[in-house]
This record gives sequence, C-alpha cells and structure tokens, in this order.
Amino acid sequence: MERIWDFVVVGKSPAGAALAAELSARSSSSILMLDLGESTMLPAAAVRPHVLEFDDWAAVGASEWAPEAVLPHFRRIETDHDFGSLRYHGSEGMLQLGRSPEERWTLLDQGFRVAALENGHPWAPDHNAPGVLGVSPLAWAAGGAGPALPHASMMTVLDAEASVEIRRVDAVDRVLWEDGNARGVRICTDSKWHDVEAREVVLCAGGIDSPTILQRSGIGPARHLESVGIAPRLDLPVGQSLQVHPQLRMLHTPDAGAVPGFNGGMLARWNTGLEGTSSGDLMAWTVNGTRTRDGGLVGALAQVFSRGSVLVAGPEPTVAPFVDARMLSSSLDGCRFRLLYRHLSDLAARPSLARHLPLPHDTNGKSWISNQRDTEVEAWLSSVVEPLGDYAGSCRMGQPGDPDAVVDGAGRVFGIRGLRVADSSVSPQLVRAPPLLTDVVIGSRMARLMWDDQSPFALGKRPN
Ligand SMILES: Cc1cc2nc3c(=O)[nH]c(=O)nc-3n(C[C@H](O)[C@H](O)[C@H](O)COP(=O)(O)OP(=O)(O)OC[C@H]3O[C@@H](n4cnc5c(N)ncnc54)[C@H](O)[C@@H]3O)c2cc1C
Repeated sequence: MERIWDFVVVGKSPAGAALAAELSARSSSSILMLDLGESTMLPAAAVRPHVLEFDDWAAVGASEWAPEAVLPHFRRIETDHDFGSLRYHGSEGMLQLGRSPEERWTLLDQGFRVAALENGHPWAPDHNAPGVLGVSPLAWAAGGAGPALPHASMMTVLDAEASVEIRRVDAVDRVLWEDGNARGVRICTDSKWHDVEAREVVLCAGGIDSPTILQRSGIGPARHLESVGIAPRLDLPVGQSLQVHPQLRMLHTPDAGAVPGFNGGMLARWNTGLEGTSSGDLMAWTVNGTRTRDGGLVGALAQVFSRGSVLVAGPEPTVAPFVDARMLSSSLDGCRFRLLYRHLSDLAARPSLARHLPLPHDTNGKSWISNQRDTEVEAWLSSVVEPLGDYAGSCRMGQPGDPDAVVDGAGRVFGIRGLRVADSSVSPQLVRAPPLLTDVVIGSRMARLMWDDQSPFALGKRPN
C-alpha cells in the first residue's frame, strides 16, 4: 500500500507550483503533486493589480488578504530586472521579470505608445508600481537568455526539493472524505483507479477544475448535483461565482517580414470613471504578430461585474462541465465594453498607429466595423467577445455563513477538515489585471497561511 502523504497538491497551476515550492522550502513534510500532464505555458505578461484592490478581499471577511499582507508576496515571488531595487519590487524571487528595451520596441508598439500619449494616457515606465495608470512597456515573466516559463522556473525550485514528488495522472476524480475529514483523492494512472491518502488535500487545479473536483466529491449545489447523478453530501455554492475577463481583439495579419516570435508589447490601463467602477477598470495591449499568428490590439474589461457558473455535467471526470461565464450580463460590463470598442477604434485611427494596423479584422476574420449605429455595434460586439483565458471566483473565499463563500481566507473548505482550495478560483473578485502574478501570490500566501495554521499537524521547518 502507498504511503500516507502529508500533503497532496492537485494541479500544477501557477498557484499550485508556487504553493508546493514554498511548502517544500519551509517544511520537511512529504508532498505529492498530481497533474494531468506537462503544463506548457507561453511566456506570460506579468502585470500586478493595484494592491489596494485587496481591500475588497479583506472586506468579504478574508482579512488574511489585506493589502499589507499581500504586497510582501508580490515582492517575494519576483526578480524584477528593471525595478528590483525599489521598495515595492523584489530582486530574489522565482519569477524573472523584464521589459523590452526601447531599441527593441516594434513599430506597432511605438505607434501604440504615440497614439496613447496623443489620446491623453500618461507615460508610466513601470505598470507594476502601486496605483499606476497610463501606457507602459509590458513586463514579461521571462528568463535572461530567452523566454523561460513561469511554471518552469517554479518547477526548477520544486525539482530541487527532494520532499516533492510530481506525478502525472490520467485523472483526479474526487476527494475522499468521511465524517467531515478529507483523507485523500481518487486518481487514475495507467488506466487503473486507486486511492492516494494524505493528511491534507490542496486543490490547485484552476478556476474550472478545482470546483468540478469538489462537485464530483459531493460538495456543491445540492440540487444540481442530484440532477446529474451525484449524491450531494455538503451543500455549498461551489462553481457559482465564476468570473472571466471579456476581451475584444482587433487583429491584422503581419506581412512576410514580420519579426518572428518576439513578445514586446505595450500596455495601457485607464479609468472609465463610470459610477460604481474603480481605478483602472479598462486595459489594452499590443500583440506583435508572427508568421503564424496575427497581431494587433487586444482590449479587455479589467474590472468585471458579471458572474457565471461552472457545473459538472455528470459523475465521470471525463465529462466536460457546463461553463457559462455570462460575459457582459451585467449592464455595467456591457456599456464599458462599448466604451472599450470606441477607445480601441480611436487609438487605431490615429496615423501613428493606423499605418501599422492595415485593414484590421475581428476575431471571426471579418473587417473591423466602424461608423455603425449603436445597435449594430452591440450585435457585432456580442459576436466577437471572448474570454481572456483566466477563470476566477468559482470557489470564492469569505466568512462562514456567507451564502456565496466556499472557503475561508486560508482556503479551508467550509465543513471539511484537511481540504483546501488554493488557486485562482478562491478570488472573491477577479483582479483588474491579467491574473498570472496574482495566481502565484495566491499559492505563495496560502503556503504561508498553511504554515501558520500548524494544522492538522506541525510542519518540520521554521518559515524564513
Ligand atoms: C492562451 C492563454 C494565455 C494567457 N496569457 C496570460 C498572460 O500573458 N498573463 C497572465 O497574467 N495570464 C495569462 N493567462 C491566464 C493564466 O494563464 C491563468 O490565469 C493561470 O494559468 C491560472 O489559471 P488557473 O488557476 O485556472 O489554472 P491553470 O493554469 O489552468 O492550471 C491548472 C492545472 O491543473 C491541472 N489539472 C486540471 N484538472 C486536474 C485534475 N483533475 N487533476 C490533476 N490536475 C489537474 C492542469 O493540468 C493544469 O496544470 C493566459 C491564459 C491562456 C489560456
């Protein structure tokens, strides 16, 4: 029979990788990480949200996530090669962050910068400085010689730790729990099902898969679980508060001379100032095309009010869940998406940018529309809106008794001991930025909170 692990971490998401790396560095506990496959991830834009956004997290009762508790983690996860010496940055973390030097900015990036400045956006050399809005060169999580992958750099730390075993699995079906205590997970490897036992199970399988694993374990909206053939055991709003960033892409096909595979990019963040919105509620950036990928401008709602759901469609782990993000269902999202469209169109019409975006098309390959009536624009926007690729809020944190909350501020699932969620799904509110850095911070902070808990047993090493 297999050993009983101290921790089983399900999913090598950015949060899961950070959590396992931190846990293994701080303790001599045995850690098994399970993942569906070698996670490959393109180099990622590394953008912080405004740290005061975390006041909203503390306001739902997760005081562990107040800005002063979170900022040290943004510092500790990064080595910022441009601004590392500043007090709000880091110079010793796992993620290598850098920006393209001015001499390597592409014509598209230069054109976007000029157009944005003409349009009234201030110049902001470091978009990760606290509270900054304006146009900035994009920071990337990348290595010195070339783009290293965030997962890879965290895995390098993990690989060096003998206390973490990383195992590829065909499926993780569900959490095993009895009498209010989690005791492991049911997994499939080499087409055989078996149980893995652990003192604590931490789900880090992301905004879609963490909630569906819980639901298959009988933890979720009881009525829905019953309707798809799963016996409900704990009625919690799992999967109910899903959020995604809706994006709008204005694309062009680069000519044969386009720079291949170069990231670069300029980012702009700004306010609509509409009642009910917060600072930096819209964002847009350039994507430099390659011979195989269209480039152009991407805009997104940074602040999102709409909420959707992710719900299992059946008891089998092979059955895809129902995902309905209900993008733009909030009227405040719908009207700001129209403002985003107008703003992208204005920027792209400026001569400095227009010459680098010839004949832009939408995501369906049709011409970018302009000078149309509002009703036509609205219909077109609903046909081109897409999720940015991040999912949050589906195992939302909050206080016990909060009808929307699934976990507490330390990621502990209400009603079960020895079971946590520690990834993007616990965010009570999608951050106003691409989420990768925040996801890594979630993993890093959760590891710290687990250490502080000293439960269900004392860990080996002292925190550094
Ligand atoms: C194309 C694309 C580009 C992106 N670019 C950026 C960017 O430039 N900057 C940025 O900030 N963000 C970016 N994002 C978003 C960012 O990648 C995600 O927010 C981040 O990866 C966290 O997502 P997640 O928490 O849902 O977990 P994921 O990254 O989806 O990781 C989940 C992990 O869990 C594993 N898993 C899932 N189910 C199971 C199971 N049952 N058993 C075991 N393991 C399981 C998966 O194999 C995977 O390794 C991008 C997303 C996409 C799709």
